[in-house]
Amino acid sequence: MTPSVDEALAWLDDPGLLERARRVRDDAWGATLTYSPKVFLPVTNLCRNRCDYCSYRRSPGDAGERTMTRDDVERELARAETAGCKEALLCLGDKPEKAFSAYRETLAGFGHASTVSYLVELGERALARGLLPHTNAGLLTRDDMIALRRVNASLGLMLESASERLCAPGMPHHRAPDKRPRARLAMIAEAGRLKIPFTTGILIGIGETTRERAEALLAIRALHEEHGHVQEVIVQPFRARPGVVMDRAPEPSDHELAATVALARLVLPPDVSVQAPPNLSPDGASLLISAGLNDWGGISPVTPDFINHLHPWPEVSRLRAACEAAGFALAPRLCVYPGHMGHDFLDPSLRAPVDRAARELSA
Ligand code: SF4
Repeated sequence: MTPSVDEALAWLDDPGLLERARRVRDDAWGATLTYSPKVFLPVTNLCRNRCDYCSYRRSPGDAGERTMTRDDVERELARAETAGCKEALLCLGDKPEKAFSAYRETLAGFGHASTVSYLVELGERALARGLLPHTNAGLLTRDDMIALRRVNASLGLMLESASERLCAPGMPHHRAPDKRPRARLAMIAEAGRLKIPFTTGILIGIGETTRERAEALLAIRALHEEHGHVQEVIVQPFRARPGVVMDRAPEPSDHELAATVALARLVLPPDVSVQAPPNLSPDGASLLISAGLNDWGGISPVTPDFINHLHPWPEVSRLRAACEAAGFALAPRLCVYPGHMGHDFLDPSLRAPVDRAARELSA
C-alpha cells in the first residue's frame, strides 16, 4: 500500500528502519548485488542550465569545453568492447543547441541538425560493438524519446527533487530552467506512456528537506504505479567541488545517505532497483548494503565518472570483497533489467542485441 508522506517520515525516526529495508531487499532481490559494466561517454558538456552544484557544465569558449566527435566515441567504444563493458552511457548537458550557436555549427559539421539525431547515430555505433546504449540527455520531448527508444535499452533522467522551492532565487535550481520538477515529472510520465525502461533518482543534500525527499520518492512511485517503467532509482548524495556556487555546502553523511536509501527501499515498490554510486561513498559500502541497497549502478573500467570527476570508481574486486564480507555476491547486469526485457518495453530491433549481451554476461 502506498504510504503517506507522514508515514514515510515516521519510518525515518524508527530505529528499525535499516532492518526493515534490508528485509524488503532480501525478499525481492536475494543475496546478489549488481552493477553495470559501462563506458561513460560525455557527448557534450555544454548545457543551458547552471545548477549551483555542477562542475560538469561549460559554455562555448570555457576551459574544458568538449563535444565528442564520432571518432572520439568510436575510440572509447573500442576500448569498452575490449574491456567487456555492456553499457554505453551517453550523457550530456541540457538543450545545448537551444543556447549556443557554436554548438549548432558543431552539430552541422557532424552532419546532424539536432543532438538527438547525433545521439541516434552514436547509439547505432554502440550497438554495432555489442554495447547497449543508455542515454541521459536531460529533458526530452515525446518525439525525442520515440527516436531514441529505437537504439536505447533504457533512458534516464534524474528527478533530483520534486520541490519547486529549490527553483526559487538563491536556491540551487534557480538558473536551471530544465530542473523544474513539473517538467521532469511530465517527461518521466511520457517515457512511461512510450514504454521505455527508465532510470531516475533523487539528489540529496542540495537544500531539500526530509519531507521533500519523501515527496520526491512518492512522486516516482506514483509514476511507476501508473506506467510500470521505472526500473531503478538512484539515491545520489551531493558532493562539494571547488569552483561551484555550493563549494562549501555541507555534504550528507554516509548515515544520512543510508537512511535515505532505506527510505527509498520502503517507499518504492520492491521490484524497483535501489542504487547508490559507490564512488561517492568510498567507505560506506557495508552501511549502504545494511540499508537495503541492491545495486551500485554503472562502474567503468575504461573511463572516469565525468560528472563526479574527483571521485574515482572503486575497483570491482574491492567492491566484490565488500559485498562478500556482508554475505552477498556481486554480479554484472545490463542497463535494462530482466523485468523490462519483454516485448512491451523493448523496441523489437533491440531484442537480439539485448539477448546477446545477456548471454555474454552469464557466460
Ligand atoms: S547538473 Fe546537468 S543540467 Fe545542471 S548544469 Fe550540470 S549538466 Fe546542466
